Formats: sequence, structure tokens, C-alpha cells
Amino acid sequence: MRYLSRRKFIKLCSAGAAGLGLAQTPLPSVAAAFTAASRGKPVVLWLQGAACSGCTSSLMNSTYPQLKQLLQDIVEMRFHPQLVSTQLTLEALLQVAQEHRGRYILVLEGAIPTAKGGVYGLIHRTEQRTSSFLDVVQTLGQGAKFILAAGTCAAYGGIAAAQPNPGDCVGANNLLPADKVLNVPGCPPHPDWLIGSLAHVLMYGEMPERDDFGRARVFYEGVVHDNCPRRQYFDNSNFALVFGEPGCLLEVGCRGPMAFADCYNRQWNGGQNWCIRSGGPCLTCTHPNFPDGTTPVFKRMPNVSVLGITTTADTIGKVAAAATALGVGIHLVGSYLAGRIGTKVPVKGGENHG
Ligand code: SF4
Ligand code: SF4
Repeated sequence: MRYLSRRKFIKLCSAGAAGLGLAQTPLPSVAAAFTAASRGKPVVLWLQGAACSGCTSSLMNSTYPQLKQLLQDIVEMRFHPQLVSTQLTLEALLQVAQEHRGRYILVLEGAIPTAKGGVYGLIHRTEQRTSSFLDVVQTLGQGAKFILAAGTCAAYGGIAAAQPNPGDCVGANNLLPADKVLNVPGCPPHPDWLIGSLAHVLMYGEMPERDDFGRARVFYEGVVHDNCPRRQYFDNSNFALVFGEPGCLLEVGCRGPMAFADCYNRQWNGGQNWCIRSGGPCLTCTHPNFPDGTTPVFKRMPNVSVLGITTTADTIGKVAAAATALGVGIHLVGSYLAGRIGTKVPVKGGENHG
């Protein structure tokens, strides 16, 4: 059986299309090993709760493996509300889960409404029985080998849990054992993050190394701000004040200093482009506090405040440590103290900034 060492796997997953060239994107190798490793085609049950289906749409954009290959050759997707043509009833779904207890992968898309016993998220109703997403997630979560929380809503609540949140929507970690849940945040998550996270648990039978927010480090370790092609503008205090201008996008709402994700390297749509290179600010869609803690969009990020700690020179060490734990770039704290952020110098001219 062709099998990748974990070290090689991590190396391949870390490399993005931008770094390798599209023809050498890493996932063909991962996909091949994935296919070989997943003999017997593991059962995957994909449930949608308080979701917009954007995470599924992102999965459909996967390049290596393509969705068809994933569904035909790699996994046995026994339940998905959109991708699998099935008349599977809730009873049959529970039976599948029972038959494969301890072995199936449960993928959750969307947050879990918990108010009033889950009544805001009913997914099945017969004359005899009404079932909420909350009920089904709790039942299937117990029997799953691993649970992938696909997207920021499933991981942390996300947009579905934004204020005022009448349905008391929560992420998977609020309800299910953290040792089983692998968060794959993003709004939506990159298809490589989804496939790579799934590949890891299937190939090695255990969790990848995770950060404090339950995300695989291989995809979520780098800070967008620290790897940004517009970083030189930031360092020179050159800020775009309207969209379309060259310059750092901080003044038009960039949250790159808070964002942990490898978009700058991997890029989107088969390695074509990504938010900042296409002229849009990073909205830090992978952050546990997205969107409430990262809005208003397109407005300058408020001054850095970390756990109420005053950002004086005396406390920069503590602030930096807390900032790291919260997913705030250390560099930002230093720049704030240096007074760089707040200087508003528009950039003239039209030089290339991609
Ligand atoms: S604030 Fe945004 S645009 Fe500016 S350097 Fe950081 S990540 Fe890039
Ligand atoms: S650049 Fe920022 S907003 Fe865009 S996908 Fe990456 S983390 Fe999300």
C-alpha cells in the first residue's frame, strides 16, 4: 500500500499552489495515499444545521481530489442532504450509524441551535416523531470516531451565532468531546483544509497537531498579516483609504493581523487568487470570534485591546503572549505601541501590489 509518512504528509499539505506551481499542487500525492489508505471506504455522515451550504459549495471546488473522485473512490458518503441522492430516513441514518459505530466520520456543517431544546433546527418530522439537529448531533456524535466541524459556524457558532442569536446557536465544541472534534473553520473553509483534515484522520487514525482553537496547525498556523504581499506598505505606514488604491488595507477593514490561515500561500479557486491579492481585506473568517468580534466589516480595526490589558511598553510581553493565545499577531501589538497603526497616509500611484 502506498502510504505517506506523517512528515511527508504535513510537508505536502503545507505547500500551497502558489509555492509549488499549479501542476505540482500537493494534493494529488495526498489523494493517492488517501485512496490507498482508505481501503474499505470509510463511512462519512455529513449533516447540515444552521448553515448556508457554503462549506459544501467550497468542497465542490476541490481540485485534488475532485469531488467525484472523493465520493466514488475514497469515502462512502452515506448521508449528505445535497450531494447524495438518497431517501434515507432518520431511522435508516441512525441504523447506519449503529452499524458503523466507532468507525464513521461525522461531518457537521453549520451551527447547532440549542434554544428550547433545539426547536429552531428541526431536521426531521413524522407524525410519530420530531427530531432536531441538536438531538441528532448528540446521538451521532457519541458513535463517531472523529467529528469534523466544517466551517466557522460548525466550529465556533460563526454567523449563525452572531448577536442577537435567538436560537442560541453554538459550535460543536460546546456539545461534543473536544478530543473527537477537529475544527476546520473558514467562511467557507478552503477545500484543501477540509480534504486535508479528513485525509489526516483517515490515514493516521488520530488527530493532527492542533492549536488552542482545535484547528490543524498545518493549515492554520501562519498569520495572514505576517505573510501578506501588502506588508511592506504596512511597514511604511502607507494605507489605502478607499478600495482600489494600493497600500495596506487596514484602514478599509483588514483583520489580517488576527487571522491564522494559509490563504496567502494556498490561495483559492485552484490557486488563482485570494482575498487580499484581489483587493479585499481579510475578514479573519477563521477566527473563533468571527463575525461579532471582528466586525464592522470594511471599517478600520479598533485599537488593540487584549483581555483588557493596557498596551504599554511595560506590558508588551504579556500582551504579546495573550495576543498569540487569542490569535492576534504579535507584530500588530508592537506596531500599535510604536504608533504605526493610526497613521493614515494614502498611497499615490498605481503600482502593482499583488
Ligand atoms: S493589515 Fe491586512 S493588508 Fe495590511 S499588511 Fe496586514 S494583512 Fe496585509
Ligand atoms: S484571507 Fe482572511 S477572510 Fe480571506 S479566506 Fe483567508 S482568513 Fe478568510
